[in-house]
Amino acid sequence: MQPWIIERQIRFQRDLDHDFTQEMRSTPGGEQFVHCIQCGTCSATCPLSIYMDYTPRRIVAMTRAGLKKDVLSSFTLWLCASCYACSVECPKDIKITDLMYALKRRSIEEKIYPKRFGIPVLAQVFFRLVRKNGRSNEGMAMVQLFLRTNPLSALKKARLGLNLISKGRLSIRGEAIRNRKGFKTLLDNVTDSSHGIKSEEAATA
Ligand code: SF4
Ligand code: SF4
Repeated sequence: MQPWIIERQIRFQRDLDHDFTQEMRSTPGGEQFVHCIQCGTCSATCPLSIYMDYTPRRIVAMTRAGLKKDVLSSFTLWLCASCYACSVECPKDIKITDLMYALKRRSIEEKIYPKRFGIPVLAQVFFRLVRKNGRSNEGMAMVQLFLRTNPLSALKKARLGLNLISKGRLSIRGEAIRNRKGFKTLLDNVTDSSHGIKSEEAATA
């Protein structure tokens, strides 16, 4: 059983946030999801749905209902591999993959993504490194990822890491491009014009 399979809880009318539904409708890719007929084709097509806490069909239904907290804290958003199979097969032409991206950005913005789950953390670590240096650094990314998700496992992997470093297969030296300031400005302008998404949230775009 996956560690993120959760116990289902009863939800009430007071748990619904209809503003959330409207906000997600107004994001790119989110316009059509309210027309979902709950046929389940997306869940049947999705190669990863068996690992998800909520299938894509459920995510669409929950977003439409306004179950904001449940949707944004879901592991499903981060397990989605962006293969677009669901979007291709959906009989209502709903852009489910784009909706997943919009929900990911929103979960980072609201800070209610699964905190110790590697994928959202890695997305942020990667973006911060690239924003700072103009390029990523695998060694630094790995260290930060372990520290923020599972520091104990870093100790277990320390020997492997040191071996890789000694053989020149892994570097922890911060390498940077020449014009970091210009790159930062470029990135800020791109992300600012991207529907008001701040740089941090754009890590997952
Ligand atoms: S395939 Fe489309 S219509 Fe069917 S459940 Fe998924 S999102 Fe809804
Ligand atoms: S895009 Fe994501 S949700 Fe859709 S089928 Fe692929 S993995 Fe599943």
